[in-house]
Amino acid sequence: MKPSYQLFAFATVVLFCSCTSGSFDIVIKGGQVMDPDSGLDDVRNIGIQGSKIVAVTQDKIIGKRIINADGLVVSPGFIDLHDHGQNEEAFRFKALDGVTSAFELEVGTGDIAKWYTERDESQFIHYGVSIGHIPVRMIVTGDEGYFLPSGPAKTVVASELQIAEMTRRFEEGLNQGAVAVGFGIAYTPAATVEEFEAMLHVASQYNASAHIHVRGGLDGLREAITGAANTGTALHVVHANSSGAEQTAEFLAIIEEARAAGQDVTTEAYPYSASQTYIESALFDDWKTWEPERYQIFQWVNTGERLNRQSFAQYRAMGGIVIVHQRTEAMTRTAIESPLTMIASDGHIENGRGHPRGSGSYARVLGRYVRDEGILDLMDALRRMTIEPARRLEARVPAMQTKGRIYAGADADLTIFDPETVIDRATYTNGAVPSEGFRYVLVNGIPIVDGGRFVEDVRPGRPIRVDEH
Ligand SMILES: [Zn+2]
Repeated sequence: MKPSYQLFAFATVVLFCSCTSGSFDIVIKGGQVMDPDSGLDDVRNIGIQGSKIVAVTQDKIIGKRIINADGLVVSPGFIDLHDHGQNEEAFRFKALDGVTSAFELEVGTGDIAKWYTERDESQFIHYGVSIGHIPVRMIVTGDEGYFLPSGPAKTVVASELQIAEMTRRFEEGLNQGAVAVGFGIAYTPAATVEEFEAMLHVASQYNASAHIHVRGGLDGLREAITGAANTGTALHVVHANSSGAEQTAEFLAIIEEARAAGQDVTTEAYPYSASQTYIESALFDDWKTWEPERYQIFQWVNTGERLNRQSFAQYRAMGGIVIVHQRTEAMTRTAIESPLTMIASDGHIENGRGHPRGSGSYARVLGRYVRDEGILDLMDALRRMTIEPARRLEARVPAMQTKGRIYAGADADLTIFDPETVIDRATYTNGAVPSEGFRYVLVNGIPIVDGGRFVEDVRPGRPIRVDEH
């Protein structure tokens, strides 16, 4: 009897396999699936075929590869709307922090076609860029600064002709597929309200959200909200923690008020109390008038040293990246616990150096603020890392309508982590240290982090760009 039983069992398996096995390339088995869009928070099996999620089920399913997610959280891949490190080095740290799509939207670029061409159509994770007022103003005014203005783009009031040229370049960038428009009005103090609103007007015509580093103080925020209202532009205010600083609660209240009045205004924060920027930027143009203690809040990224008046002067003449230790932990918490803020890193790891936010922002929110301090719950944190940033862009960018969510038909961009161990490891003296606790990160159905290890030889990331019409 035994042989025939075995034959029967074999036939059953073959029959079963012909129906379901092979229908999935990867099965993620038994994870706690958390999808903030639908509210799903339960154990499920996920079937992936090619670059898509094709099944989310309680049924047993079989695939060519099974990833055991027992005890792990399965989330949509994180979407970072504010990431300056748009290269392989930086994307490696992003992936190890759970991010599957990273966008440079605040500064952006002045040449959309060239920017995408330089990235050669495939990277570790998905990427995209805005047409940026800062680089466009630098081109039009002849500013030769690196990344941020250091000359006329800071100081020159634009003529009508120059504003017309900036408008033309904005339109060209949007026609070439820019996903949004970017502004750093704090870095271009000579830009008038008229210039600002002329550029916002272009954004609204293309259904593009405007991602803005506002001028200092609450008045800078009010200026942006008024400009966006006057032109009917969707507004995204970058880093409420840093722009709000000691007034973060008031800053967020003003945004809440605009939203309550029906305006489309969103914001974001990163979970650190120090900033990072360029020492030569307009933010520090009054440096010669400072009290001696003020220089000590600056940390030169290349050496880790704290500055004094003399070294500040020396490095400012040279130009480069500084970390600025200027806010309290209480300010950071106010921004992170607010339901208004998406999580966005403002990261920029380059040549093994940079602010830890480029490597650790997402793990730090999940490990420190969700698990250890309990100031927000996990689903709410994931909402602000996944579906909210997807929604911010999707009016203009169709590709975002299938990201940031888990359902049959969504893109297989997934982040699978251990909620008990996830934590950031990057520090202010060593920013280029990967986070821990992300066990699997899938981009377009391909593991880029596999069993906690980074996979070097795949490039599943694709450009996210609006099709040219
Ligand atoms: Zn930034």
